[in-house]
Amino acid sequence: MSSATGTLRPDFGGAIIEPGGPDYESASRTLLTSGKPAYVLRPGSVRDVQEAVMFAAITGLSLSVRGGGHSFPGFGTNDGGVVIDLSRLASVEIIDKKRHLVRIGGGATWGQVAAALAPHGLAISSGDTKSVGVGGLTLTGGIGWKVRKHGLALDSVIAAEVVISSGEVVHACAAQNPELFWAIRGGGGNFGIVTAFDFAAHPTTDVFYGTITFPPSEADTVIQGWADYLRTAPDELTSTADIANPFRGPGAPVEIRVAFDGDDPDLAARAIDPIRQLGPVLDDDVAPRPYADTLEDGTPPPPGLVFAIRSAFVNRESVPAVLQILAEARTSERSPFIAVRSVGGAVSRVPGDATAYAHRQAELMFVTTSAGPEPAVEAARPALETIWTRLAPHVSGAYANFLSAATAADVAAIYPPEVYRRLAAVKRQYDPGNLFARNHNIRPH
Ligand SMILES: Cc1cc2nc3c(=O)[nH]c(=O)nc-3n(C[C@H](O)[C@H](O)[C@H](O)COP(=O)(O)OP(=O)(O)OC[C@H]3O[C@@H](n4cnc5c(N)ncnc54)[C@H](O)[C@@H]3O)c2cc1C
Repeated sequence: MSSATGTLRPDFGGAIIEPGGPDYESASRTLLTSGKPAYVLRPGSVRDVQEAVMFAAITGLSLSVRGGGHSFPGFGTNDGGVVIDLSRLASVEIIDKKRHLVRIGGGATWGQVAAALAPHGLAISSGDTKSVGVGGLTLTGGIGWKVRKHGLALDSVIAAEVVISSGEVVHACAAQNPELFWAIRGGGGNFGIVTAFDFAAHPTTDVFYGTITFPPSEADTVIQGWADYLRTAPDELTSTADIANPFRGPGAPVEIRVAFDGDDPDLAARAIDPIRQLGPVLDDDVAPRPYADTLEDGTPPPPGLVFAIRSAFVNRESVPAVLQILAEARTSERSPFIAVRSVGGAVSRVPGDATAYAHRQAELMFVTTSAGPEPAVEAARPALETIWTRLAPHVSGAYANFLSAATAADVAAIYPPEVYRRLAAVKRQYDPGNLFARNHNIRPH
């Protein structure tokens, strides 16, 4: 142990991992980024998290808090600083059977949650990937296969336990520290380390899930028809459209993924058939399956691959123009991957000021992803800029969870001015020295 870690109390019960140690290589790497932190601290208890936060504050080193380690900008690691890795705080406990209340450790992953809740017939609206962390996804949104029926992941949070920059443990819910409770539902990890989330889970059955594939020649009609239909589709239906895949070029089919939140085959068919009728179907593998089985593994990419990820929201009046631009982009030589997700439904029924998530009125959220070796991603940048310049008059905001950059412009896109001001006031109260800065950062001053 180095002299600096001597400032940790001797009863720190977690792991201390330093350069050269046996677990250092894997502990310093996230899904998409490598780092060279001076210390990785893996707390085993809330008390350990308090110690680790005090250690970071005293040393003055840059601090990364790592949940599932999936953030696109690589917030979960750093060079020369401290990483507090929450992976040991991964319990999933049913705390009230009747009300379906579940307490989840701040370092759990959604795969762990789905597997633990399945035997109880419960699930939580989250994302589409097992290895994504509950912490990162929930603190800025959570758009998954139940989003139109049950809202964002953060909409199911009813309370949280937070270790703030002073090392104190603070409880946040509607009745206790309500401004902090508002801020952690959208404002990311800016206010402290959430050691436990209390969620109201939803009873779940099997769901109808799968992909309906259309030929590229039908892209325009299918995509526009898909968006029109979703406006009146039942909330049980959540859907995404994968409309461009540069690895397959302009000949890539259009893949509409659907998840119907229910096991009644007639209701599922009634909800999904209008999508099947949008064009000639090349393939259709929609079938009932356990909700937990719809989540995919997040496979680490091969070394050397980089990702440039951008996202934006689309309000109703701009849907045709945006989809037209994206449909044209898919045929261009340097097209990015383009995926469009339905939101609306339960997300838009929550009042705009109830949480710090600022994009409730959007019908769609889309993501462009350029992926490849760095020179290829750089070479594709001008074409990407052209697409985004065309999109700019029609889109709004950005979804924090799908952004690989963290510039001031990105932060401004995530948080409109009035939301930012309110978050900054909360930041001044709970993290006045900006200890928690490796995120889309809200500055206290
Ligand atoms: C393969 C893949 C699939 C994805 N699919 C979806 C999807 O379907 N829907 C969706 O909405 N998003 C999705 N995402 C995006 C994902 O939500 C974000 O990348 C998110 O930041 C990941 O959270 P994490 O805890 O795994 O990451 P981390 O890198 O560990 O953390 C991300 C941020 O949250 C902070 N943080 C994490 N846990 C805590 C905590 N307990 N307390 C305080 N701060 C914390 C970190 O400090 C960091 O700033 C996906 C990402 C990937 C890579």
